[in-house]
Formats: sequence, structure tokens, C-alpha cells
Amino acid sequence: MKDKDFLMIPGPTPVPESVLLAMAKHPMGHRSSEFSKVVRRVEEGLKWVFQTKYDVQIYTSSGTGAMESAISNLVNAGDKVLSLIIGNFGARWAKIAAMRGADVQKLEVPYGKAINPDELKKILDADTKKEIKVVTLTHNETSTGVTNPVKELAKIIREHGAISVVDGITSIGAIDCKMDEWGIDVLISGSQKGFMIPPGLAFLVANDRAWELHKQCKYPSFYFNWDDYKKNLDKDTTPWTPAVNLFIALDKALEMMREEGLENIFARHKNNAMLLRKGIKDMGLKLFVEDESIASYAITSVLPPEGINVPDIRKTLKEDYNIVVANGQNDLKDKIFRMGTLGFVTERDVLTALASLKATIDKLKK
Ligand SMILES: *Cc1c(COP(=O)(O)O)cnc(C)c1O
Repeated sequence: MKDKDFLMIPGPTPVPESVLLAMAKHPMGHRSSEFSKVVRRVEEGLKWVFQTKYDVQIYTSSGTGAMESAISNLVNAGDKVLSLIIGNFGARWAKIAAMRGADVQKLEVPYGKAINPDELKKILDADTKKEIKVVTLTHNETSTGVTNPVKELAKIIREHGAISVVDGITSIGAIDCKMDEWGIDVLISGSQKGFMIPPGLAFLVANDRAWELHKQCKYPSFYFNWDDYKKNLDKDTTPWTPAVNLFIALDKALEMMREEGLENIFARHKNNAMLLRKGIKDMGLKLFVEDESIASYAITSVLPPEGINVPDIRKTLKEDYNIVVANGQNDLKDKIFRMGTLGFVTERDVLTALASLKATIDKLKK
């Protein structure tokens, strides 16, 4: 049967029917007063989700666009950037910074692990001349299913004085991240993960400290120019034509998120991930991230059982049960599969996925 797909990949994620219906309209004129009202509402909603008082810049791009924006509005060629890498997405920050001509230093740990705050502190303490301007990191590493201790890491970065630039693409709206309270300087996210809407919008928040560093940036990006975004946001608009229908979708999704409440959203993600982890272990399968203290509430990485390969598991789940799970990335390709519990996901979905996974394994064992 068609139209029954359940996306359990870590983005794009399932979209609620009310959001799909809200989007299914002719586009609004993006300079209309009607659209400005949407921009204002969405802006206020995003601030609430990001737990910040600072402006949220809304880009028409995928999440990587917001990463590019952060680096290109903060970093000059030759600047020292420290990238904390626990997986593919952490490595992406280092690549973007290197393309900008930055002098990139890396703190890399084996995939499946998180950054140890003591190791970061050692590196930053050694930088007595304060040459490191920016530290990039990932809150929730989607490629492995590990959540970094961002609160501790941001504190250490603040004590050193560098600007912390955090990828919250799969944490915002899923896992608690208190931008202002924890002292995160730049925080980004994307629409197709915890926000329950299709891909196409990315978000960036910069605090006062980040704006100070931005003033020293000689050649910022044109499309992602912070000053242009700020100037326009003050008038409830955007510099370029935005994906207006996605704004309408976001407006609706934020309304749903407000109804549920942030604490309940975080609790739901935690409960769903714990239920999934328990079910997988009960089935006799192994989790890639065994340490509960760093295991993600948004993405769970699973090792295939002996004698059964990842492509067959994914194929059977898709063909027999219309459930789409993700493969591992790069070195982890065919070694793990990843199940997202991100966004519009309930306990029923997790139970269905567990039963389907069990039936899949039983079928493939024969
Ligand atoms: C999905 C994702 C990205 C990249 O987002 P795109 O929308 O594909 O550009 C970056 N970081 C993390 C942690 C992600 O999960």
C-alpha cells in the first residue's frame, strides 16, 4: 500500500497533517503585511524554542547553510578555530572553517564517544595567548547518536574567552539546550529535524559576544549576511525571498509545540528513545552507544546481529513495513543503522518500529 511510509531517518522527519494542510496554499507575497505578521510570530516562537532573548535569523537553506553563515560571519583567514569532532557533522565545521582560510585545530575522539570536558580544558588552558577565536562543536551528533555535554563545554569555552559555535540541528526542539543560561554564543538548527516541517529553513542565533567578533569580520557572506538579516528582521522581514510556505508550516508547528510545552517535548523524546533502546536490547541486538549518559534521545544507532547485514535490514523494513531507517555514514556505512525518534514521533510509532524490526530480524535469520 502506498503513502504509509514512516520516516525514521534523522531528518527529514514526519510532518503532522495540520502542518501539511497549512502549507498547501498559494504563496503569500513576502513583502506583505500579512507575511510580516507570520515572520514576527515565528520569530517569537523560535526564541522560545532556542531559549534565548537574541534574534533568530531564518535562512532559506538547509542546515549546512546556517553552519556556513556562522563561520563566514565570524572567521577571517588565518584565525585560529578549534573544532571538537565526535562524528561527521563535527568534522563538517572543520571543513567549512578550513575553506574560509582558518587555521583549524581539531580535538577528535573515536566515533561513539563524546568530548571529555577535561580534555577541552587542557587545550584551552594551554592557549595562554588566547589565539583560539572560535570553538565549534555539535550538541547532538547525528552520525553516531551521541550527545555532547554542551553545558559543561560551553562553560569552559566561556572561561577561555573564545566564541562557542554550536550545531544544535538535531537537538533544538528535541533535547534541552538552554542557549542563554548555558552561555552558548552561536547556536544553529534546521527545519527538517525537531521542528516537524519539511527541509528548507535554517536558523541561527548569535549573542552580543558573537556580534562583537562579527564586527572584526572583513569579508562576511553576502547571502548569509548577519547585518542584512538583522536590519530586515527589525522590520519583520527577510533580505531575500524566503520559502514563504515553510514559514507558514513553521508557524503551525510552533503552535503545536507551544501547546505541548518544551518540558513535555523533551520528556517525550527521552521516553521514546529509552523505550526504543530497551526494546532493541531485549531483542538481543547491541547498541552502538552503550553509555547511557551520552546516548542521544533523538537518534539511536544499532549494530546488526551476527550474520545479518545492514542493507538487508533497511530493505526489509522498507519493503515489508514502510519504515525508513538510516544507514551509517562514511566509516560506519553498513556497520550500524540509525533510527530517529526526532520530531513528530509518539510511543505508538516506537512500538510499531520495534515490532517491525523484530519481525525483520526473524525473517532475515531464516
Ligand atoms: C542534518 C544535520 C546537519 C546538516 O543539515 P542539512 O540540512 O543536511 O544541511 C548538520 N548537523 C547535524 C547534527 C545534522 O543532523
